[in-house]
Amino acid sequence: MTKKLYYENAYLTEWETNILETIEKEDGYYVILEETAFYPHGGGQPCDTGSIQGISVIDVLNEDDQVLHKVASLKSIPQEGTVTCKVDWNQRFDHMQQHSGQHLLSAVCLDLYKAMTLSFHLGTDYCTIDVEASELSTSQLESIEREVNRRIYQNHRILSYWVNEEEVKSLNLVKQPKVTKDIRIVEIEDVEYNACGGTHVSSTGEIGMIKLLKAEKHKGNTRIYFKAGYRALEEFNDSQRILGALSAKFKTGKHEIMDRIEKWELEQKQLQAELAILKEQNDEYVAAQMLDGQEGNLIAHIFEDKTLKDLQNLASKITSQSDAFVLLATAAENKVVLAQNNNSGQSCGAFFKEHLGNFNGKGGGSNILAQAGFPTWEDAQAFYEFASQQIKDQM
Ligand SMILES: [Zn+2]
Repeated sequence: MTKKLYYENAYLTEWETNILETIEKEDGYYVILEETAFYPHGGGQPCDTGSIQGISVIDVLNEDDQVLHKVASLKSIPQEGTVTCKVDWNQRFDHMQQHSGQHLLSAVCLDLYKAMTLSFHLGTDYCTIDVEASELSTSQLESIEREVNRRIYQNHRILSYWVNEEEVKSLNLVKQPKVTKDIRIVEIEDVEYNACGGTHVSSTGEIGMIKLLKAEKHKGNTRIYFKAGYRALEEFNDSQRILGALSAKFKTGKHEIMDRIEKWELEQKQLQAELAILKEQNDEYVAAQMLDGQEGNLIAHIFEDKTLKDLQNLASKITSQSDAFVLLATAAENKVVLAQNNNSGQSCGAFFKEHLGNFNGKGGGSNILAQAGFPTWEDAQAFYEFASQQIKDQM
């Protein structure tokens, strides 16, 4: 049976031990050690990574109380004898900060709002706990964040030890453990006793800081997103970078950015309104020109850069002044519009429905207005040419 060093000392990251067994499975190579500080997945905490005799440890599993180290290869790992093992300390310490942070955060949620923690997730980016509360207000979350950081700065010792079923009854445990013998207790002095197998920092000061990111409703409870330690620092740096870039863009201090954005939004609205008036005037002018260019019963034109909405507006402007068919196309969107003022006895929509299929087009419309989109400009153009010919010849 492997001796689990991570239970005794979470700070041990380098040791020498003997190989007990090497295993080749379908999904890879595994090593069993006499002693291991590699923490396997469990209790919401992800596994450690690192190396055995220089070979990468990529996964660590607990199977029937046996710790299996999945390694990249077995090449330089001997079948038996002594090997040197190393745990990736940065990752381990990060897990310790998040996990101890979670215990403390859960204790505060329980103390302040009687919100019991139901589950914990330690992700690669952020952590979450689900607490038994249908809702937590912004001010409640602020109180939780303030209190949990206060307890960090009080620097409570964090201890771990084993107790039996009798001893556990004398401790006021947060949750009764499922196991009945050899129960591992993680105690935050003067705060709480918790049955937990994870790796923890030795005092709350090492958590550094806990930053709550957001809270949302989840299955009738509340999910709190948070980051502890270096992750909280990185979050702060990230926000600083974004804020700095915004400050530079708006050429103002961070407190004035929101004002500037509101002003900018107002300017945008005014510009949109001005643009709408100018477009309207331009349409009047273009419509007048196109009315002059009428050929028989057709007014047709191809535009490079108009939207479908532009075409529809322009077409209705022209049909209000002429009995001709108006056929417009835009290369910007591969779209074609046909309109009339209903004096011809023909239907634009029916005409589109009948012929679009031959040009890979999709669309339709009413008697007086139809529109269609095409996969390519060549298709749109071919349909446009076809429609102009048909209208000139027959409609
Ligand atoms: Zn725990």
